[in-house]
Amino acid sequence: MAKFSKEERKARVKQRVAAERTDLVASMPLSPEQLNTLLDYLDANLKSCDHTTKLTDIFLHVEKLNRNHVLPWLADRGGYCDCEVLYNLEDLAESFRKQLTPPKTQPKTKRTARDLTTLTGWDFAGLPKPWRIANLYETNEPLKLQMGKKGGCTITVVESPLALGDQMSDDYWSALWYARTELPNKSPIQVTHTALELPDDLQSTLVQSSGWIPVYCWVVPNNQQWHVEIRTELNRQNGDLPEVAKLITHLATNEA
Ligand SMILES: [Zn+2]
Repeated sequence: MAKFSKEERKARVKQRVAAERTDLVASMPLSPEQLNTLLDYLDANLKSCDHTTKLTDIFLHVEKLNRNHVLPWLADRGGYCDCEVLYNLEDLAESFRKQLTPPKTQPKTKRTARDLTTLTGWDFAGLPKPWRIANLYETNEPLKLQMGKKGGCTITVVESPLALGDQMSDDYWSALWYARTELPNKSPIQVTHTALELPDDLQSTLVQSSGWIPVYCWVVPNNQQWHVEIRTELNRQNGDLPEVAKLITHLATNEA
């Protein structure tokens, strides 16, 4: 095996990094400058993200960039909606900026992500895959977790008790389901208590209707001070609910 001096090795690494950089830029559907401008644009205009790429779309249209190329590329890097584009593409944009200007003169304008502390006492900082925080910048919304990319299954952490009422009665849960879904009465509501396998101090109630897609499950601690609202769908709940139970058990047993 050939031996290299420290300097030779360093030079080779540098060369390789530069080559990788060139390949990366060549593979990008927008230039580093355009990426930077996009982030500036989002930073200036994003008030509250509605979990779409609405603003990104406007930017791409104005810049005459091909959205069919750029949007999947952004999504591949965690930019599934405007706030995530802003958050998840920042490091990449920053790495290009570092190349252009010495780091010392680079002013740091970082958006502040929400505080992940909640009444649950759970540690949301290092969520296990495939979970992610869906509304990192919406500080005025309850913390929302999402499974994977598409958002068919979400967990919302609400730092207030569930509506007052008789939680032993199916009518209570049925009313809650209708209030959330705003759907008309079609087929009977099915209520399942202790639907999730959770630690003893957490009670779960699954509510669904065979005629409708939305499936809700509420998890309430013994002290009732907060609750967690899980939303999934009729045809995917069997896959989702064990994952939800696994995550909540993980969070509840590894408190911060
Ligand atoms: Zn968003």
